[in-house]
Amino acid sequence: MSAAHWSSGAGATDTGPRARNEDSFLSAGAVHIVADGMGGHVGGAAASAAAIEAFRDLATRSSVTPADVTSAVATAQQSVIEVGQRAGADSGTTLTGAIAVEHEGQPWWMVINVGDSRTYQLDGTHLHQITVDHSHVQQLVDAGRITAEQAAHHPDRNIITRAIGDGVDGFDAWLVPVVPSSRLVIASDGLTGVVPSELIGSVAGLADTDADAAERLVEAALRHGTGDNVTVVVAHAAATSTPDDAVPDPWPMWPVDFDDDTTDVSQRRESAE
Ligand code: MG
Repeated sequence: MSAAHWSSGAGATDTGPRARNEDSFLSAGAVHIVADGMGGHVGGAAASAAAIEAFRDLATRSSVTPADVTSAVATAQQSVIEVGQRAGADSGTTLTGAIAVEHEGQPWWMVINVGDSRTYQLDGTHLHQITVDHSHVQQLVDAGRITAEQAAHHPDRNIITRAIGDGVDGFDAWLVPVVPSSRLVIASDGLTGVVPSELIGSVAGLADTDADAAERLVEAALRHGTGDNVTVVVAHAAATSTPDDAVPDPWPMWPVDFDDDTTDVSQRRESAE
């Protein structure tokens, strides 16, 4: 870890039964992210690496704002488009994770997502999924046509509806209050597609360290016969918390839109409901 920061974390990855690992991750300084690339030949690996690279500078800073994160996502979009142009094929990547930001003078987790990798928050050993997959099966679930359980086994479960590199602006973002020592789990679908969330929660909640938790979760995915690359980052805030009076309501998290200069959280919350 570079500058002493209130967040820390660790990651682990394994190629699984695939020929190459197209996942990438970064867990350093304020940045804890996972990217799952797709594209022919080396395109997928290059796409996920390029998206991660766009956040490398933020990882060296002692303070990061939501606007910094928004601009890193825009850089990631551009970089992955260029990867595709060089590869002469469509390249894309998922991108999710948590960045430790300062917003209106207070510490927050800014959780971001494009695609179907996932970011969860742990409450003890109970896992709350923060991100909402950009996937075909999630759309079917939202429409009430299939259940979440059916989605997990659906033949089209690998079809995603958004990716970094698709040229579409915008991304999902949430501000999540920082709770000391509460872990965040960030993972590619090589984990979440095969390991039940109850088991992810108990493994991540009971491990001694973030590094231990990440490694054990990767091992669990391999043991459960994952057919994919698997990548896990586990992060936590050491001794910092978002003050109660900075949280407008007993609301665990809410979607925010940082596309313009207005970042008034309570206002955004109204419009999100
Ligand atoms: Mg994958």
